[in-house]
Amino acid sequence: MNKDDINSIKGLLSSPKTIVIIPHKNPDGDAIGSTLGLYHYLKSMNHTATVIAPNDYPDFLKWMPEESSILKYDSKKVESDALIRDADIFFTLDFNALNRIGQMETAVTEAHGIKIMIDHHQQPDNYATYMYSDVSMSSTCEMVYNFIDMLGDSDKIDANIATCLYVGIMTDTGSFRFPSTTSATHNIIGHLIDKGANNSEIHNNIYDTNSYQRLQLLGRALSNLKVIPEYRTAYITLSQEELNTFNFKKGDTEGVVNYALSLHGVIFAAIFIENHQEDIIKISLRSKGEFSVNEFSRAHFSGGGHTNAAGGKSDLNLQDTIDKFISILPQYIEDLKA
Ligand code: 5GP
Ligand code: MN
Repeated sequence: MNKDDINSIKGLLSSPKTIVIIPHKNPDGDAIGSTLGLYHYLKSMNHTATVIAPNDYPDFLKWMPEESSILKYDSKKVESDALIRDADIFFTLDFNALNRIGQMETAVTEAHGIKIMIDHHQQPDNYATYMYSDVSMSSTCEMVYNFIDMLGDSDKIDANIATCLYVGIMTDTGSFRFPSTTSATHNIIGHLIDKGANNSEIHNNIYDTNSYQRLQLLGRALSNLKVIPEYRTAYITLSQEELNTFNFKKGDTEGVVNYALSLHGVIFAAIFIENHQEDIIKISLRSKGEFSVNEFSRAHFSGGGHTNAAGGKSDLNLQDTIDKFISILPQYIEDLKA
């Protein structure tokens, strides 16, 4: 995003506008944090802003300031479609291709509003009028902070904005431990705390709200863990039956794949989660170092993401998906071998 873009966007935002802000399907902490953070900023500038999420998100995000104002497209389609049709401006946050918003794709593609993308995923599609895309960024929340700063409005960051942006930086950096965490990230976090983000409380709200059943499900996931030492690879499976046994709720499997990656010597980890409702196996992939799970997922599992964290899906059944995964590994022996 160059100076001209910033000046054009400044011009656009110089009078009150109707704005729709969109995160990706199955939104995570960064998706909800960035959209809500931007929402609070735009509202403070007298715009009419609405966050429309493609679908629901985990309960551990449902305490964030004005989270209850978020419309979920899959349950509020008529109201959402009207807002999308009439919007002057769209901000699309934390995703790189319109197919990442599921059922909203058609309505947003057909809408006349100007599209502004803010995102840190690799290989972004070219659908937006203004693109702030930077794959080196820890999180979209860090980029929203920079965006507000580039507009010359960092003094407008209040406790609500700071709290939302803190959430996404914290969750997307694995609490500030992934390599994408830079000194700039920490400086921004410092500013957000100064503006009123309560770091300890936020951490507590996100991570210390486990149900007993979620921990039992984690126990099952860990006992399903398999290691393939010759490829420095580990994977976890969860069948629909296992999810049902532990009364699975959205978000319960978030972060579980990281346990596989935490094994000594492992640099490539996967979790395969059976989803009968969507009739797919949802896949999360993680890596350490150079091995790109973004490329791996794009090549084999219709997905993508970042070098070290990506997602994808499979239309095969759970066992066939695992067999496929294992059969692909030899192609990557040079990148994976110990
Ligand atoms: P997770 O494994 O936590 O669902 O996602 C890891 C990263 O990959 C996130 O940045 C997420 O946005 C991205 N991602 C997850 N699933 C998909 C997918 O199906 N397609 C693409 N392109 N990206 C995905
Ligand atoms: Mn993100």
